[in-house]
Amino acid sequence: MRAGPSQEEIRRHNLGALLRHVHLSGPTSRAELTSRMGLNRSTIMALTADLTAAGLVREELPRETGRAGRPSLVVRPESARVYVFALDVGVDRLVAARVGLGGAVLDRRETVRRRGPFSLEEVVGPLAAFARQMHRRTRPDTVCVGVAAAFSGGVAQHDGVVRFGPNMGSVDVPFGEEMARRLALGLPVAVGNDANLAAMAEHLRGVGVGCRDLVYLHGDVGVGGGVIAGGALLGGHQGFGGEVGHMVVNPEGRLCGCGSRGCLEAEVGERALLEAAGRFGSQVGREAVRAVVSAADRGDIVAQAALSRVGDWLGLGVANLVNVFNPEMVVFGGMLREVYLGSAAQVRSRLNLDALPPSREQLRLRTTALGDDATLVGAAELAFAQVLADPLEVLARAGS
Ligand SMILES: [Zn+2]
Repeated sequence: MRAGPSQEEIRRHNLGALLRHVHLSGPTSRAELTSRMGLNRSTIMALTADLTAAGLVREELPRETGRAGRPSLVVRPESARVYVFALDVGVDRLVAARVGLGGAVLDRRETVRRRGPFSLEEVVGPLAAFARQMHRRTRPDTVCVGVAAAFSGGVAQHDGVVRFGPNMGSVDVPFGEEMARRLALGLPVAVGNDANLAAMAEHLRGVGVGCRDLVYLHGDVGVGGGVIAGGALLGGHQGFGGEVGHMVVNPEGRLCGCGSRGCLEAEVGERALLEAAGRFGSQVGREAVRAVVSAADRGDIVAQAALSRVGDWLGLGVANLVNVFNPEMVVFGGMLREVYLGSAAQVRSRLNLDALPPSREQLRLRTTALGDDATLVGAAELAFAQVLADPLEVLARAGS
């Protein structure tokens, strides 16, 4: 028979839980932590003292309580002192940010990425330079506790190697390893699929806060997705789970970059929309998608027909996902935000035809609250994961 967790294991678990609480909810009074975490006052006091001594949180008197009696101290994350680097390798841009505990973006750099054949140097070079610039500007008493990147491609969970991506074909790119080498911070670089991380970001800090079953759909050149089930991200056996863009919705349909035919991505991605609107080639990217939606708003019948066609396939894809996962919410991000806003009626009517009534009745369809930064916010959360799991251990390593 296995013995239960030791006092030390319980303490570590509780330290992580308390830190996670103030990281996600912001400054919280001791009294509130006591009731929300279901621990007694003296335990909360001891945990807070440990985290304060480690420099992860600080306690302050609340500004105005408006109530009589002794106010409960407020615990707030040491946002300016403890931080991570979050990186985003998007199809059209590269972003690096320094994000403080608690989620505040302290500093950020961004550059446009040209579409074309993939080169590791073209991605790693600018991101490493950005991180170094930001690192030089930090005060000596600050501490970096993690680095993570969102990558628009299939990322293997165990080693962070990128296995496939838009314009990449099927390759093995040791992105995380190379990034860590170039940053030379003595920290590994965790890598996640961008849509998976955006799903987590919307669940933790965006439109899906409090919603434990959520499907996030992200569109750009391709269509990616992330499935949150019971509060956890579905990764699958190797981490490639949630590739909803390659769910076949139309076997007679358009060729997909993956070699298959009629994948959701081939029917609702940027190219499908622009071709249906007769605009492919002149413009690409988000601006081109917005131009189709605003033309449809102004009564352009070709643009309206293109959105209606794409909205229909999008609705079919969502209906399949709703039948399989029974989410409480489906969130549209990237260019699918614009597509959904321009074709919501079509998406809904397809859902009404093809999704099981009990699964669709309480379903909420929403657009991203974090916008194009959902992937970056998700990368920051991935970078914070370890310090939130075991605060003192990570801090001891970072400080050594
Ligand atoms: Zn495909």
